[in-house]
Amino acid sequence: MLLSEDNKLTNSYYEASISRPAASPALAGNLNADVCIVGGGLAGLSAALELAERGFSVDLLEANRVGWGASGRNGGQALVGFAADDAIESQLSTEDARRAWHITVEGLQLLRQRMTAHEIDCDFVPGYMSLAVNKRKAQALSAWTEHVARAYDYEMEPIAVTDIGGWIASERFHSGAYDSNSGHLHPLKYCLGLAAAARAAGVQIFEGSPVLDVQRGDKPLIKTHDGAVSCRYAVLAGNVYLNEYGNCVAPELAPRIMPVGTYIIATEPMAKERADALIKQRIAVCDTNFVLDYFRLTADHRMLFGGRVSYSTTTPPDLLSSMRRRMLAVFPQLADVAVSHAWGGFVDITMNRAPDFGRLGDNIYYLQGFSGHGLVLSGMAGKLAAQAIAGQAERFDLMARIKHHPFPGGALMRTPALVLGMLYYQIKDLL
Ligand SMILES: Cc1cc2nc3c(=O)[nH]c(=O)nc-3n(C[C@H](O)[C@H](O)[C@H](O)COP(=O)(O)OP(=O)(O)OC[C@H]3O[C@@H](n4cnc5c(N)ncnc54)[C@H](O)[C@@H]3O)c2cc1C
Repeated sequence: MLLSEDNKLTNSYYEASISRPAASPALAGNLNADVCIVGGGLAGLSAALELAERGFSVDLLEANRVGWGASGRNGGQALVGFAADDAIESQLSTEDARRAWHITVEGLQLLRQRMTAHEIDCDFVPGYMSLAVNKRKAQALSAWTEHVARAYDYEMEPIAVTDIGGWIASERFHSGAYDSNSGHLHPLKYCLGLAAAARAAGVQIFEGSPVLDVQRGDKPLIKTHDGAVSCRYAVLAGNVYLNEYGNCVAPELAPRIMPVGTYIIATEPMAKERADALIKQRIAVCDTNFVLDYFRLTADHRMLFGGRVSYSTTTPPDLLSSMRRRMLAVFPQLADVAVSHAWGGFVDITMNRAPDFGRLGDNIYYLQGFSGHGLVLSGMAGKLAAQAIAGQAERFDLMARIKHHPFPGGALMRTPALVLGMLYYQIKDLL
């Protein structure tokens, strides 16, 4: 089954809590544009908006609806930094690693600027806490925050074991690190707000328009079933779905990312006072385990709890109840609160967990490999691609210098190797 056909993943609280505008028409016929973008998630929409603001004509092709992929289903945690720092620090100079880190800091500013400039009401709440579940993890967290302060001048506030109860009503955690700059939001509202801003800037968005083939050359030709866009530049931002609809889109990119399922539940709304008592400053929270739990409160006072991973690409049959058990391990006091929604999606993990940006030839850009840490970074990915197309490629090229290896076994056989690797980390989580 295609990843995009797993309907069990789409019972999301986000979709249930908004009303979408009418669908944009599918592409029919042949068009010319300066830039054609494949994918209407945050990376593609961000590139589209930035390019249109710079005077380029832009057509965006989305296979489903805007925000249908990870961008409209994620945990909503808008965080600074990368999924992992090691690959970046080992491959780039100290100064370039610092510039890369500050691209993510700029990503949070960009998000805030866009919310204001385009009046995107998406329930943003500032504040984020990383939590360690035991003393050993606490030492690692503290070493990391000291490193980030020293290497990148980015300060987080240590929260001692004696103070943790002032932040979260759970016995599960030892201590933490608080970041007042990161935060959380309703990702689908943000994504649809970005799409509206892109349309207002002149971007033509075609929904229900899967790209089947990308013909390369001086003028790439991006083909759908009923039409084609001839362009000077293309930006591929299709996440793990990019090659699902036709294996001539960019087959060389698929073996470098692995689709990993991750899942979320939302409870029924609670009384505000009850919700406030669980996460006292209503911040976003994530533990530091490899297979992590991440959670936050919604604007209508639900607990939104994410975690669990699946490497098989099939949705766990007991999704709602197994996620509920994970939530109750953290908040047993929620035993009487019903779960109303359970959903999930795929993150595009690279071998080294660093993002994978680059070019195919001179004029086809790709943005992938956010490794579960893409809400903020995808916005910057789009901005850097737009800057590069407009002639300022320095920061895009900095990120594109990070090397990536294909998963052993390529796109078809990569799962068994990854499962073994993950088992190792899951065992480490237990120690
Ligand atoms: C359950 C879940 C929770 C997450 N939680 C967080 C979090 O809390 N914080 C965080 O930072 N990150 C999180 N992430 C990761 C984050 O959501 C992603 O990194 C980010 O949204 C990726 O954006 P994107 O635009 O690259 O991909 P997507 O949003 O997946 O967009 C890709 C789009 O391209 C379209 N497409 C693909 N191929 C084609 C084609 N051939 N033709 C036309 N259209 C095509 C798809 O339909 C899709 O809409 C989470 C991800 C998931 C799945």
